[in-house]
Amino acid sequence: MTNRVGLGREAMRAALQLRRSLAIAREEPVNVYDIAATIGVEVRFLDAPSLEGMFLKDPHPTVLVPSLNHRPRGRVSFTCAHEIGHFQLGHGTVVDEYLEGDAEARPKSDEEFAADTFASSLLMPRQAVLQRFLVRGLEPSDADAQTLFTIAGELDVGYETLLKHMCWGLELAGNDWLQDRRRTKPKEFRAAILGSKDSRRLVVAGEHWPQLPLDLEVGDYVAMPTALSVEVPALLEPAPAGMLWNVYRAKTPAPPVSPSVPLPIRFAWLVLVIADCSSIDSSTTRRLNERPRAQTDRRKQSLRGVGTRAFACVRE
Ligand SMILES: [Zn+2]
Repeated sequence: MTNRVGLGREAMRAALQLRRSLAIAREEPVNVYDIAATIGVEVRFLDAPSLEGMFLKDPHPTVLVPSLNHRPRGRVSFTCAHEIGHFQLGHGTVVDEYLEGDAEARPKSDEEFAADTFASSLLMPRQAVLQRFLVRGLEPSDADAQTLFTIAGELDVGYETLLKHMCWGLELAGNDWLQDRRRTKPKEFRAAILGSKDSRRLVVAGEHWPQLPLDLEVGDYVAMPTALSVEVPALLEPAPAGMLWNVYRAKTPAPPVSPSVPLPIRFAWLVLVIADCSSIDSSTTRRLNERPRAQTDRRKQSLRGVGTRAFACVRE
């Protein structure tokens, strides 16, 4: 029998080592697409509903993930981190197919287990999770479901993924806590914030947003508490919202820019990166964004060493 404890430790060490090599402190959340760009891994979003993710080793390291149209945003970024794990752990080309149902219930190969552990450790190291509660003056076990939903967005993981990691991975809470928080579903938060029952892609960017760029696809929603005053660029349009929230919909993709031209997107302290994955010609690849590191000075602390990033959307 393989030594899963040893494999898990090795994967965790590799993830923490990668964060260290990029000068990202353990208590800081990360933007996984920036990390990919920094280590020379190209990320492509595919209009491919049956794909969970794919890592191509040759001719150059490439991660393929489904467009956000096909998966919740936290799931896509976790998959991207998982595929980066295959790269960092020296695995070969891997195709991860999308399977309905509870992924936990299925047996995993050693490589899949290691890539999952890598992804959890890259996105949710203990200190980064604890810091989200610390900035709110909360103990993890005292946080209500809505706060946990917001924190999951800040760490760019799914609500359930955060709950399970806090309970089983980090042992910050017990099973009763897990069962209790699990009773509330993310679509209930979305419905409350958007003021409608349609379950749409939504991220909450409140006063504790960790100063990371926020990646959106056209059609995605951003919610901000009405108490915050923000400068809204024309790339976003106001959308209907429940009480206490201002909601904006990503309307226009950020124009392609050359590295020497600053991207004119500033959303108060939030940098938006908006891609349009809906209107790409078949068999073409389009670079939608390329943003020089120099303009992202507000997040120097959290993303030192990160260079330009590119988004490419392709159809199958
Ligand atoms: Zn995999």
